[in-house]
Amino acid sequence: MSGSKFASFSLPALGLLGSLLLSCLNTSADLTLVDGDKVMQHVDKIVSNGPHPAGSDSQKQVAQYLAQQISSFGLEVQTHTFHPTTPQGRLEMNNVWTVIKGERESVIILASHYDSKFFENFPFVGANDSGSSSALLLELARVLVDNNPTRHSLWLVFFDGEESFQEWTRIDSLYGSREFVRMLKRSGELSKISALILLDMVGDKNLRLLRDLNSSPWLNEIIWNKAAQMGHSGIFLKRGNIAAEDDHLPFAEEGIPVIDIVNLNYEHWHRQEDTLDKLSARNLTAVGNVVLSSLAEISQYLER
Ligand SMILES: [Zn+2]
Repeated sequence: MSGSKFASFSLPALGLLGSLLLSCLNTSADLTLVDGDKVMQHVDKIVSNGPHPAGSDSQKQVAQYLAQQISSFGLEVQTHTFHPTTPQGRLEMNNVWTVIKGERESVIILASHYDSKFFENFPFVGANDSGSSSALLLELARVLVDNNPTRHSLWLVFFDGEESFQEWTRIDSLYGSREFVRMLKRSGELSKISALILLDMVGDKNLRLLRDLNSSPWLNEIIWNKAAQMGHSGIFLKRGNIAAEDDHLPFAEEGIPVIDIVNLNYEHWHRQEDTLDKLSARNLTAVGNVVLSSLAEISQYLER
């Protein structure tokens, strides 16, 4: 990073101003490599499968699309199949992920769920929930494969079965993320996970993101400060909080630092109208670039 260039400055002589200056210079330059049009194309492909709740054949098609795209970036696809009991009986679900190796073994996870919520009475394709974040994660994979701004290994994880089939409970929800944590426990890899950055509903035209109280405050600080620096305080609002129940909770319960970047005020949430035309390539680009540009600082924070 750029810090070494300035190592000859005497900190005591420079005082507070100097240390502030140094901390600014230490964070690497903003990265604006995310292509919002590519993200929109991925959402289009995902929703073209129609409703794709966990356990459905169309959800397998979506998993296949994710795998094809990951492979096309020259990355290896990992899949874990599991069979949880749900209110609709025992269903097959698949977590899909890829690994971008870093200098270090320790891992920062970037994640999204890729199932759409099951509704009996209307077709729900979930363009924003969570086509938007699945698509953005694919685009981040494309960018990060050649530009990992950290020394960490990066895992990009697509969770199946985030949505509940009936009313949201601890048992009927978060099937994929709970299984992912169990899998890591079984393999002894959970201790490698340094942080999780979760994206969910990040693409609507009226995107207004609030800090989540179930997320780690330091991660909120880094992401929201970066957004402000990049001129995106119209999306990452400076005031207001939410308390999100989402795929970050199973990781938080294990003491892993987490952040959920999620718009809980999406007006078409869980409605038939959650379709591609409600999304904004510009907003998807902004969120992607903020996350991308925050990774170096998150990694440095973890290495303190
Ligand atoms: Zn949902």
